[in-house]
Amino acid sequence: MVRDTRIPVQGRSQIMAVNPFVPDIADLSHVQLKELLGVSRVVKLSMNENPLGPSPKAIAAMEKALRSLNCYSDCEGHELKEKICARLGVTGEQVILSNGADEMIFLAAHAFVEPGDEVMIPFPTFGSYFWASALAGARILQVPLKDFCIDTRSILSALTEKTRLIFLCNPNNPTGTIVQRRELEYFLEHVSEKIVVVLDEAYVDYVMSQDYVSGVKFINSYPNLLVIRTFSKIHSLASARVGYGVGTPEMISVINHCRLPFNVNYIGLAGAAASIDDTEHLHRSRMLNYEGKKYLEQQLKRLGCSVVPSDTNFLFVDTGVDSRLLMEQLMKKGIVIRPGDGYKMPTYMRISVGLPEDCHFLIESLEEILPLLR
Ligand SMILES: *Cc1c(COP(=O)(O)O)cnc(C)c1O
Repeated sequence: MVRDTRIPVQGRSQIMAVNPFVPDIADLSHVQLKELLGVSRVVKLSMNENPLGPSPKAIAAMEKALRSLNCYSDCEGHELKEKICARLGVTGEQVILSNGADEMIFLAAHAFVEPGDEVMIPFPTFGSYFWASALAGARILQVPLKDFCIDTRSILSALTEKTRLIFLCNPNNPTGTIVQRRELEYFLEHVSEKIVVVLDEAYVDYVMSQDYVSGVKFINSYPNLLVIRTFSKIHSLASARVGYGVGTPEMISVINHCRLPFNVNYIGLAGAAASIDDTEHLHRSRMLNYEGKKYLEQQLKRLGCSVVPSDTNFLFVDTGVDSRLLMEQLMKKGIVIRPGDGYKMPTYMRISVGLPEDCHFLIESLEEILPLLR
């Protein structure tokens, strides 16, 4: 039978109303960038990756895991879950593993948002919250940051009867700022228990500020709280795709309704379980970041940029020039940054802290390029 190929396939209206993810140059992989830029070494400072790479113990565990890929893994990831529980002081029913934090964000929106519900999202913040909420059919309310920080008071005063979920990124990507302990306590105390609060702590292990507190501390007091974490950032396992959520057993059991059985792959499970034990590697990563960030801050200020104080492994920087043009110039040298136009702050750039030689190369290059663009 000959079919009429002109008849278009019709997607569900809810998903067709949302644009698919289209990678920016800043989202490309090292391999893609190497090919595109024709350079021998790419200095990628656009994805907040840990430049030290995974723990050698994680690599060994993942190599070993390769030999068992013919078999299905433990679909609940008990070994990793137990290690997470021991570290956080929670029980197994309070943790759910996911295919990166990204999947956890999607599962949260999927589990709680009915079409037409309101979701509150600060702006600028991590893009997946918008995407996940839009796909769930949410009406999205954006609440602007105040002095580069998530404005919890503004969010509280913007809540309505229709609000179902709030995304908070703490520390916030792309600004690197935290919600202070007392602010978070006040916020949780004043949000109705009918509204789910998703607290994304992707960068928790980089935080140095004494005014920070993890939402894990409040899990047992607030049944509407879900804390999200990932092995992609300080654990340096971005491509292994492992994240998790922490909440009350009831919260986790609701989300489990929409989790696929083998959502986390065996290589990722093995790598994450080994990485969580390698506290020495984590410490080294944290210290390297601390020193690199200090250096970058000093040097960027010397070059006339203003830098938002950061509790993460990246800096949000006002360059005073169009950062997309700046990125184009830097790319000729193999350096990739995150331009601020996507955050509607076109003179800002977000840069991750690289290895010391990467930081030096970036500063050297900016010293040459910035005056030409000013
Ligand atoms: C990188 C990042 C994530 C995504 O992490 P994956 O585990 O790789 O999906 C989630 N939230 C924030 C704020 C991030 O910066």
